[in-house]
Amino acid sequence: MTKNKRIAVITPGGDAPGMNAAIRAVVRASLDEKIETLGVRRGYAGLLENDIIALGARSVSGIIHRGGTILKSSRCPEIKKESAIIRAAGILKSRGVGALVVIGGDGSIRAASRISSASLGAVGAVCLPASIDNDIFGTDETIGYDTALDTAVDAVDKIRDTAVSFERIFVVEVMGREHGYLALDTALATGAEFVIVPEIKIPVTRISVEIKKEKSRGKTSVIVIFAEGAGNAHNFARELSRLSGYEVRVSSLGYIQRGGAPSGRTRILAATFAERAVKLVAAGRLNRLVALKDGAICDIPLSKSLAREKPVDRRLYRLVGSLGR
Ligand code: ADP
Repeated sequence: MTKNKRIAVITPGGDAPGMNAAIRAVVRASLDEKIETLGVRRGYAGLLENDIIALGARSVSGIIHRGGTILKSSRCPEIKKESAIIRAAGILKSRGVGALVVIGGDGSIRAASRISSASLGAVGAVCLPASIDNDIFGTDETIGYDTALDTAVDAVDKIRDTAVSFERIFVVEVMGREHGYLALDTALATGAEFVIVPEIKIPVTRISVEIKKEKSRGKTSVIVIFAEGAGNAHNFARELSRLSGYEVRVSSLGYIQRGGAPSGRTRILAATFAERAVKLVAAGRLNRLVALKDGAICDIPLSKSLAREKPVDRRLYRLVGSLGR
């Protein structure tokens, strides 16, 4: 048995719908390649405590449609220390693991890459991008993003009903950490009048002037989609109200965006990413990120993904502005 014939799958970061579908697919695709799968519980905190279980075909029954992660997650600040990284690599080696299969976001991938380096090649890493923020460089889409977008769109549609009835301005805060992808796509899909993202600075005075123009053109309700990374939505709303003279309400969508049953598209992405990840392990091609590029599954070196920030699509940003008139 070569070292890559045993893998450990882990979900160490923010949960995203479709993680369970991905765990299921990794376990079952591995069976075809005669690869044994272990599951690390509670992310990197569990890894450091050797909380690792065997996963077979039946361990992943009935989870394809469930949000969250059956392996559970945790934030583990300790894993950022080099001593913990070395310890994690040692634990995986002692369990005979040749590759750590990470389903997660940027932080999860960084830690896995460091564990691989610390193991001096004994434990490789293969990563499946999973995040509701869609903020991982090298992939057009992450597992869970499509589902979170649908959740946000559904919520904004409902808020619009109230905004129209009361002729109000609503600032709707959506997740996305330091990035505005989810906010931008939500704005485009809901026909929001404005979108505020961290990547593109726009003074609140300008929004106020634009809103006054919109009102004079006959618009009665206005929706501003506000990315959490762009600042404090409540302060923004207060300032907007002061400048424009209109009443402005804030609604933060919060954790509803992270949960729920994965969409069909998310599940398919999970299955196809997992299949590629297992093929990479079987071929001994490690330290790679599985990705979606122009509709096709591909893989790129982890180092390439980690070195760059994914740029926000300025064409879509302009489109929100031009269609929301
Ligand atoms: P995500 O994977 O969704 O980006 P986090 O940012 O919470 O989620 O990261 C997941 C885990 O990886 C956390 O336990 C965190 O402590 C760890 N982590 C994040 N960045 C690094 C890093 N540079 N080196 C080592 N561990 C990291």
